[in-house]
Amino acid sequence: MDLHLKNKTALITGSTKGIGKAIATQLALEDANVIINGRTDSAVEQTIAEIKSNYPNSKVTGVAADISTADGQQKIFKQVPEVDILVNNMGIFQPMDYFEIDDETWDKFFKVNVLSGNALSKFYLPKMLAKDFGRIIFIASEEAIMPSGEMPQYSMTKSMNLSLAKSLSKLTKATHVTVNTIMPGSTLTEGVEKMLEDMYEKADFMKNHRSRSQIQRLIRPEEIGRFTAFVASPDSPSFSGEALRLDGGLVPTIM
Ligand code: NAD
Repeated sequence: MDLHLKNKTALITGSTKGIGKAIATQLALEDANVIINGRTDSAVEQTIAEIKSNYPNSKVTGVAADISTADGQQKIFKQVPEVDILVNNMGIFQPMDYFEIDDETWDKFFKVNVLSGNALSKFYLPKMLAKDFGRIIFIASEEAIMPSGEMPQYSMTKSMNLSLAKSLSKLTKATHVTVNTIMPGSTLTEGVEKMLEDMYEKADFMKNHRSRSQIQRLIRPEEIGRFTAFVASPDSPSFSGEALRLDGGLVPTIM
C-alpha cells in the first residue's frame, strides 16, 4: 500500500533506538525524508547507516540534540526549520516506588516527557497550519489511561500527552493538519529490555505483570512503526485529536 509519504519530511524524536527507530525506518521505507534524532552524533550516525544499509534508496539524515534542553531544541529548529510530520516519541520511563519519588524526579519527567514535545509542537504547528498540511503524533502509552502504579511519575506525563494533543488538535479545525496520540502497550525495545533485566523476571513478565494482555507477548517495535506511518500519512485525514490504542488488548475496556 502506497501511503503517499514520498517527499514528506518527518522528524522523529528519540529515534536511535526502539519505537522511534522503528517509526523512522518505516517512514524511510515509505520514501519520506526522515530526520533521526538522538543525543549523540555517534548514535545518530549509526542509525542512519543502519537504515541506509537495509534500504539503500532511503533518504535519512539526522540531528544530534538533547531535546529536553533549550539548547538542544534551538539546534533542531536551526537545522530543521520545517517538517510535514513531527513524531514526539522521545520519552523516559522507570519503575519507582511512589514514596521515593522526589520533586526533582517529578520535574525531570515532566520536562523530558511533556515539555520537550510541547516545545517542538509549538514551533512546527504554525508552519504546518500556514501550508495547510501536517501531522503531529505523540507517542504516549497505555499507562496514560490505565496507570499500573509501577511508575506514577511516568504515567502522569503520558496522560498529559493525551490532553496536550487534544488541545493542539483544537487549533487545526477545518485544515489538513492533524494532532493525535498513539498509546502502545508493553513493547520490546532496548529500554524495556534493560528494565526487565534490572527489575523483573523477564520470562514471566507478561504472565505476572501484564496478565490482561490478550496477545501475551511484548509488542514488536515494527508493529508500532507501521501503524504510526499510516497515521502520519495523508491517507489518514480523519484521525483528529484521537488517542489511538495499540496495546495488544492490555486495556480491558471497550473505549
Ligand atoms: P528507548 O529507551 O528504547 O529509546 C529511547 C530513545 O530516545 C533512544 O534513542 C534514546 O537515545 C533517545 N533519547 C532519550 N532521551 C533523549 C533526549 N533527551 N533527547 C533526544 N533523544 C533522547 O525507548 P522506547 O521503549 O523505544 O520508548 C519510546 C517511546 O515510547 C517513549 O515515549 C515511551 O514512553 C513510549 N512507550 C514505550 C513503551 C514500551 O514498552 N517500550 C510502551 C508505551 C510507550
